[in-house]
Amino acid sequence: MKSLSCVLVSIFMDTANERMLMEMKHTINATFPEAQIVGSVSMGEIVNGTLVEHDIVVNFTLFECSKVRVLSYDFRQIGSHQAGRELLAILNADKDVAAVEVISAGFHLDINPFFHEASKSRKDIVFFGGLADDGSLGQNGMVFAQNTTLRHGVAVAVFSGSKLHVQASSSFGWKPLGRSMTVTKMDGEFCLKELDGIPALDVFERYLGIVNDERFLVEALTFPFYFERNGTVLARHPRRCREDGGVMFGADFRVGEKVRLAYGDPSDIIENAMVLQENLANFRPEAIFMVSCVARWMLLGSDTEQELSVTRHLAPSSGFYAYGEFMRNADGEIMVSNMTLVTIGMREGLGHSDKKNIKVEHPKFKKHRTIMAHLVHFIETTTQELEETNSKLSRLAQIDRMTEVLNRGETENRLRDMLDQAKLLGQPMSILMLDIDDFKGINDTFGHEMGDKVIGAVADILRDSTRKADDAPGRWGGDEFLVVFQDMESTEGREIAERIRRKVAAIDFLPEGRKVTVSIGFATAGEEDTPHELCRRADMALYEAKRSIGKNMVVVH
Ligand code: GH3
Ligand code: MG
Repeated sequence: MKSLSCVLVSIFMDTANERMLMEMKHTINATFPEAQIVGSVSMGEIVNGTLVEHDIVVNFTLFECSKVRVLSYDFRQIGSHQAGRELLAILNADKDVAAVEVISAGFHLDINPFFHEASKSRKDIVFFGGLADDGSLGQNGMVFAQNTTLRHGVAVAVFSGSKLHVQASSSFGWKPLGRSMTVTKMDGEFCLKELDGIPALDVFERYLGIVNDERFLVEALTFPFYFERNGTVLARHPRRCREDGGVMFGADFRVGEKVRLAYGDPSDIIENAMVLQENLANFRPEAIFMVSCVARWMLLGSDTEQELSVTRHLAPSSGFYAYGEFMRNADGEIMVSNMTLVTIGMREGLGHSDKKNIKVEHPKFKKHRTIMAHLVHFIETTTQELEETNSKLSRLAQIDRMTEVLNRGETENRLRDMLDQAKLLGQPMSILMLDIDDFKGINDTFGHEMGDKVIGAVADILRDSTRKADDAPGRWGGDEFLVVFQDMESTEGREIAERIRRKVAAIDFLPEGRKVTVSIGFATAGEEDTPHELCRRADMALYEAKRSIGKNMVVVH
């Protein structure tokens, strides 16, 4: 046997039996006095790609040239924020840190400040782990690190070594269901009170028929809320329901976030695991750590083995079923999610050469051709159709049929939103009000249809003369238009307005060489401006332009 630089012992046990833990520690230390021991109570243990229930898993990871340092932070003593700062100092002092495992105990643990501080560490340090608990839902959580056991804090293992390579992958597989809803009321970070003004419990009752009885958790666990935060898809499953209709979650939501219910399709989840397997196989790991969500187990039932088994032929694996999984996004932010399976591959140097041509084994999982599978397919298709119809409808509700620029209502919305945003960002914004000169005369001389054509041509010019992403041209009514310009001052605005005026004057499809002209008022928002006040000033500028001889003028206020 090659000489060892470190032995990490990971222990996952089904109940918080501190005496047994200490006995195991003595036995382990008799052989490996320097062993680093970390672990937790867990609801389900994973060993070599198999789920173990009501048992104790003791896993030895032997390192030849890397070090693991096990730490613990009791949040009741030093608090989440301070613990994060202390961990950050340790990570900053060692340039070879490659990964950090965090196992937490305590259902109401305030872990975000801890992760917020730890997120300031080097972005290539992999973070993984989860919230551990037994099946009693928050009553008996416990983590341990060396001689310390904690019920309200974190156990941490810091993996460090210049030759240590770590690869993190995660598998999700839940799909959005139904319409998007906005978080309108929270009670603290974890209790979701209302979505679109509707009590959170009513959402479960209305859409899923899940009521607040003793089965609430079991039934709601596999229907998480699904949302995006900073480009990462996250999910939160309910923990329990309060009498007041608020629903408790294991991780936070923020007011204003848009969420959707989601469901898991077992076939897709297993297929995702295949992708995970290929990723891991290419990495050639020597050890694998796994953290999976209890909701996956609940959904997959006996097929859970299929998902876990993807690591079986690659390397020894160990891990546990969690009530929240920890991972790090591309920006380095450490986040809590639910519903995911996280796998961490580790190797020292290149890993075993005989793993080079590893064969990816596809478990013999057949897509269920059951009524359930057909219903899932039906839901998926109708959800997609509804989404398409909704986006078509909302577009129709925003545009003016005749000109296809924004209608009055939507122009007002954009004006209000863009003015708010400009104030927030400290950017200038401007509006332009345009009215066709002597339009009644065009109608009277050439007929209404020709009048419509002129209105359409002016709208086309506005669309072509404005920036697609930043400006909002809209029809204000009749022969009048309003354009909202984001991040625009009057010098540039005057040039654009002049260009529009000239382009309209060049319209040449009217009979008898008759010309079309427009008058334009332009105004830039001041700090105190309301939408109404800004419009009033643009309107005054337009009025001035109309009073000039021959109209066909731009006036800037
Ligand atoms: P001014 O230079 O002062 O603007 O004179 P004007 O003749 O253009 O007067 P005003 O802007 O008040 O007239 C707008 C006219 O536009 C009145 C209305 O009959 C006509 N109009 C409103 N909507 C439509 C439409 O959709 N199609 C057509 N063809 N005409 C419209
Ligand atoms: Mg007019």
